[in-house]
Amino acid sequence: MGSSQRYDADQPPVDPSTRAVHVRGPELAGLRPLSLPIFQTSSFAFSDSADLADALSRPDGSFVYSRYGNPTIRALEQAVADLEGGTAAVATASGMGAISSVLLSRLRSGDHVVVQSALYGGTVSILRDLAERFGVEVSSFSGDPGELTGAIRPNTRLLYLETIANPTTAVNDLPALAAIGREAGLTVVVDNTFASPMLCRPLEHGAHIVLHSSTKFLGGHSDVIGGVVVFAEDEHYRAAWHQVVDYGASADPFAAWLTARGLQTLPLRQAKQCENARVLAERLQAHPAVSAVRWPGLPSHPDHEVAAKLLSGFGSLMTFDIAAGHEAAVAFLERVRLAALAPSLGGVETVVLQPSSSTHRQLDEAGLRAAGITEGTIRMSVGIEHADDLWADLAQALG
Ligand SMILES: *Cc1c(COP(=O)(O)O)cnc(C)c1O
Repeated sequence: MGSSQRYDADQPPVDPSTRAVHVRGPELAGLRPLSLPIFQTSSFAFSDSADLADALSRPDGSFVYSRYGNPTIRALEQAVADLEGGTAAVATASGMGAISSVLLSRLRSGDHVVVQSALYGGTVSILRDLAERFGVEVSSFSGDPGELTGAIRPNTRLLYLETIANPTTAVNDLPALAAIGREAGLTVVVDNTFASPMLCRPLEHGAHIVLHSSTKFLGGHSDVIGGVVVFAEDEHYRAAWHQVVDYGASADPFAAWLTARGLQTLPLRQAKQCENARVLAERLQAHPAVSAVRWPGLPSHPDHEVAAKLLSGFGSLMTFDIAAGHEAAVAFLERVRLAALAPSLGGVETVVLQPSSSTHRQLDEAGLRAAGITEGTIRMSVGIEHADDLWADLAQALG
């Protein structure tokens, strides 16, 4: 099944905001639906059993069974691969499905992995499990290139990074770290969930594999759970495809359709979210009840210069510290009316939470301090509402 021509594939539009809109579906016997169709089918029929067997053996054969591949899912995979500048992608049932599939397809017992120390909690859990049950060794480093060089051992196989860390919003020097990883023969993997391909394309900076929780910015409407992995190299793609298919982490056609629909407005949403974040970060910084604001766009952010070079926008995730501490942070969360107290991030609506009692509740005081969190820290994912309405809500909740 080929792709219907929405634009000339030999001369694709240059700007991602144009390419994101034109998610290309499969050819449909003379029909050209403007919207991507949902192929809500488990299986596809064949007239020849050799063809059926061939289709089950590789990712680029005919569609045969939707755990192996599906036209709606393939359209999403190709759209995200295109935006990230990769050669191929695999969509998964969740961001964790993407992360576990990448780690399991690249690692075996006795291998060593180097990771940045501030990581998504679910990733930390998988790495702990791989270490305890399968003898994978894991070391973490702060993000400093010299420290990375020192952490690499003869059995190191993989370097795992995040473009923008949660909740500190730390931004590491990705090109420098990827270069060190490649030089040592490691597979360089980047979780690009917080940046999305609108702000950073890690494959252009030396990563081999980039992955997303598409639950967040790619889907963008808090209505679907999903993940996508994009590859620079065919060998990595094939290994991960087999992993996803054999372990059953595959995406579902309807979830892929919702994500592809969200993707069409990603450039618009994210531009507005970044602009709203700037307004709110500046006003929060000037508010007497707030002792610190961490947003990579502020000159006071420790990684501001790295972020300005690496990112084409500073993102819409920030943390701020309510000076009066835990009780005041709890009161703030009870008083917000427009911003919702909810997990997740990257959606059209603004959400807030207190990391010390939710996403980072496992950490003791020392662990919280090391992660850059206080009891008064609030994490905010800024949506697309009007900035003045958001500020009015935050200001009344700060009291
Ligand atoms: C949410 C998230 C994940 C996990 O994704 P799910 O879709 O919830 O499985 C992984 N990495 C980052 C950075 C995330 O924010």
